[in-house]
Amino acid sequence: MKIWADFHTHTRYSHGRGTIRDNVEAAIKKGLKAVGISEHGPANIGIGPTLDDFKRMKEEIENLRGKYRGIKILFGCEANIISVDGKLDLPEKLLEELDYVMVGLHPMVWGVTLKDFYHIFFENLAAKRIIQLRPKVMEQNTRALINALKNYRVHIVTHPGLHVPIDTAALAEAAASCGTAMEINAGHGYMTEEYVRIAKSLGVKFAIGSDAHTPEKVGELERGIEIAVKGGLTEEDIINAGTNWEESLWRKR
Ligand SMILES: [Zn+2]
Ligand SMILES: [Zn+2]
Repeated sequence: MKIWADFHTHTRYSHGRGTIRDNVEAAIKKGLKAVGISEHGPANIGIGPTLDDFKRMKEEIENLRGKYRGIKILFGCEANIISVDGKLDLPEKLLEELDYVMVGLHPMVWGVTLKDFYHIFFENLAAKRIIQLRPKVMEQNTRALINALKNYRVHIVTHPGLHVPIDTAALAEAAASCGTAMEINAGHGYMTEEYVRIAKSLGVKFAIGSDAHTPEKVGELERGIEIAVKGGLTEEDIINAGTNWEESLWRKR
């Protein structure tokens, strides 16, 4: 199985170590045809880039596109969900400017309101210790994600089930109907083969991403490929594999 694009890479704009240029050069070395710069949204506590940083990223990417002709450099994001009704932490106008939108559920974020902060940050934290809270938190997390898929055009949901519990099958069903791919995160080893099988049976597409936080990890997708293959996926199921990878990402709802 050959993966042509790594849509999930971070840089110094958040808590990654390299520059955008470093990630691009690393992707070229790995033989990729496309690399996506997908920074966290601003709500990530302590590490989120500002909206001005997103403007700077855009300029940098445009500049690099002129210099590196052999690879597509895509401007993406890994936006945060900041309310249970599925609001993202990037303005619509910016989301429209991006080449693609990824959404991840991270508990360490500022909520839209104190109540959202309580549900997303505090309850997820508490559920790590208090088992009785888990079903409620899982239902809430899943609802927040599904609402985000309904509210926005989301291309990929990153690492479903990492950091916080979710109902992966319910998410997969919503993702399939919204035309959103689910990520197999090679860096963290999420999703599991078992969930890959369940999600595939519900008609969802997948993306394999490195979630690189250092340039050396860009395009390191082996662990994700292994999970995909063990879960019974072929190139057809994966939006950044095979010959149609370029069109499949931009598939409209
Ligand atoms: Zn993430
Ligand atoms: Zn990430």
